[in-house]
Amino acid sequence: MATTKSTVAGRSAIDWAGLGWMFLFFWYFSGVTQALIWASGVAGFSGFRQAFLASALWLVPLLLFPGRAKLLAGAIGAVLWLCSLAGFGYFLVYGQEFSQSVIFIMFESNVNEASEYLGHYFSWSVVLAAAAYGLGGWLLWRKVRPVYLPRRAALVASLLLFTFSVGYPAARQLLKHGEFQTALEDFEKRIEAASPWQLVVGYHQYRRQLGNMEDLLASREQIPPLKNLVDAHAGQPSTLVLVIGESTNRQRLSLYGYSRPTTPNLDKLRGELQVFDNVVTPRPYTIEALQQVLTFADQEHPNLYLTTPSLVSVMKQAGYKTYWITNQQTITKRNTMLTTFSKQADEQFYLNNNRDQNARQYDGSVLDPFAQVLADDAPRKFVVVHLLGAHMRYKYRYPDEFERFTDRSGVPASVTDDQLPTYNSYDNAVLYNDYVVSSLIERFRATDPNGFLLYLADHGEAVFDAPDPEVLGRNEAAPTGPMYTVPFILWNSPKWQAQQARDFAASLHRPYSSSHFIHTWADLAGLRFDEFDSSKSLVSAEFRERPLLIGNPGQPKSLIDFSLVKPKKPADQGSELVQQERKGKGQSL
Ligand SMILES: [Zn+2]
Repeated sequence: MATTKSTVAGRSAIDWAGLGWMFLFFWYFSGVTQALIWASGVAGFSGFRQAFLASALWLVPLLLFPGRAKLLAGAIGAVLWLCSLAGFGYFLVYGQEFSQSVIFIMFESNVNEASEYLGHYFSWSVVLAAAAYGLGGWLLWRKVRPVYLPRRAALVASLLLFTFSVGYPAARQLLKHGEFQTALEDFEKRIEAASPWQLVVGYHQYRRQLGNMEDLLASREQIPPLKNLVDAHAGQPSTLVLVIGESTNRQRLSLYGYSRPTTPNLDKLRGELQVFDNVVTPRPYTIEALQQVLTFADQEHPNLYLTTPSLVSVMKQAGYKTYWITNQQTITKRNTMLTTFSKQADEQFYLNNNRDQNARQYDGSVLDPFAQVLADDAPRKFVVVHLLGAHMRYKYRYPDEFERFTDRSGVPASVTDDQLPTYNSYDNAVLYNDYVVSSLIERFRATDPNGFLLYLADHGEAVFDAPDPEVLGRNEAAPTGPMYTVPFILWNSPKWQAQQARDFAASLHRPYSSSHFIHTWADLAGLRFDEFDSSKSLVSAEFRERPLLIGNPGQPKSLIDFSLVKPKKPADQGSELVQQERKGKGQSL
C-alpha cells in the first residue's frame, strides 16, 4: 500500500491527504451543524472555529495506534454522530443552537408534553436530513486510512494536537483565573460547540445551574410573607400585565420625541397611554437592575432581593395566578436568579433556548403564549412578559420586513459612516419592539379586561447618542445618560380606570428610579401592606423625590446621583462593552 511504502521511504513523504481525511471525518460531526448555524445567520463564527479546534483532538488515537485506525475512527465517529444528532436535529426543527437551556426545558416538561412537541414538529424531511447526514459520515469514514508516522514523530504530533485543541485553552484559562471552578467554566465554553461536548458540557452546566437555582428557591421559601396585606380589588376578576423590555433607551422612541418614527404603533395609542418621561434604572445590566425592580432591594439595600418577597410572590399572596413568559435565555449562569423568580410563577413559557446570547431571536414569539394566558379561565391573573427588546446584536432582533431605517435621514451628523449600520439596526430593533409592545396592548385590550399593562425597560443602551456620540453599549464605570433612561408606560383598561380613578398628570414627569418599582406596582394594583412605602410610589400623592442613585451598590461610596452624569470626553469611548459588541462577543448583561 502506498501509505506503508511512504513511511518506509522516509519522513519527507507524510501522507497529508490521509491526515486531511481523518480530520474532515471528525470535524464533520460538529462542523456541519456549526456551518449551518453560521451560514443561516443564527449566530456568529466563534462556534464554527471552536468546533474546528476541538475536532483535532480525535486524530491523536489514530496516530498513536495506526494499525487500528479504521476501527478507532469508526467507534469514535459513531459516538460523535449519535451525540451530534441532538444539535443537528434541534437546529433543523427550531432553527436555534442546542444548549443547556434545551436540556432544562426537556427535564422541565413532562413526558406527554415532550411527545406532543415531537409529534408537532415531526416531519419526514427531518428524518431524511438526519439520514443523509449519517450517510455523509459513513462516506467520509470509508476515506479514512491509517497514517503511519515514525514512533517519535507520532508522539510529537499527538502532543501538539492535544495541546492545540484542548491543552492550551485549558492551561490558559487556569492561568488567567487561577481558580479551578471558573477556569473549568470558561474552558467548557470553548469546547461546547463540538460534539460530544455539546451534550456533556450542556448536561454538566444544566446540573450546576439547577443546583444553584434549587438552593435559591429553597431559601426563598423561608422568606416570610408580607404583613397585613390588604387588596382594594379583593375578590374581583382582574388581569395585570408587566412587560419588561431590554436595552431600550427611551431617547430613541418617537413616543418620547425622537425624530425618526420608531414607535408608530405606540404613537397611535398615545391617547390611551400614560407616558412617564423621567424614569431611570439604577444599574445598566439586566440581572443587577431586575434584582431591584422585582424586589424590595434598592441601591441602599442591595441584598434585600435575597430575603424579601419578589413581585411574583407578592401577587401570589394577593391571590393571583401567576405566569412568566420569557424570550430571554433561561438557565445560563448569569440568568439563574431571574429564572428563580420565574420558577416562583405558577406557569412558565421559556421561548429562547439559544446557547449564544447574540443569536437571532424575535420577541414576536411571546404573542401566542400571551394569548393563551389571556384565555386561561383563572379569574385573577398576573402576567410577566420578559422581552429581548433591543439587546445587542441589534440586527438579530427583527425580521427583514422591519429593516426600515437604512439611510442617513434623521441621523445626527455625528454618526460616522462606520457607525451608521449599527445606529440604523438599533432603530429597526426599536421599531420591531414597538410592534411587539403595541400588539401586547392590543391583544390585552381586545379581551375587555379589568386591569392594566405596564411596560418598562430593564435599562437603556448607548448607541452613538448625544451628548456622547462615540459611546456604544453600557458601562457602569463610565456611565452616560442613554444607558439609564428607560421607557415607562402604562395602559389602564377603562373598567380598571373607572374603579380606581386616578389622575396621572402630576406624576408623569417625576424623577424616579425603577429600583423602587415594587411600590409603584403595589400602589397601581391597589395593594397595601406594612412594607409598602407610598413615598416610593411614582403614582402616589405622597411621592417624595429622592436622588436617582446609580453605580455599583457593592461600593456604596461610588454611588452617584444620575443628574451628576456628565458628558464624556472622546477619550472614554473604548469601554469594554463597546469592544465586546465590535467583536460580537456581548455577554448576557
Ligand atoms: Zn438588560
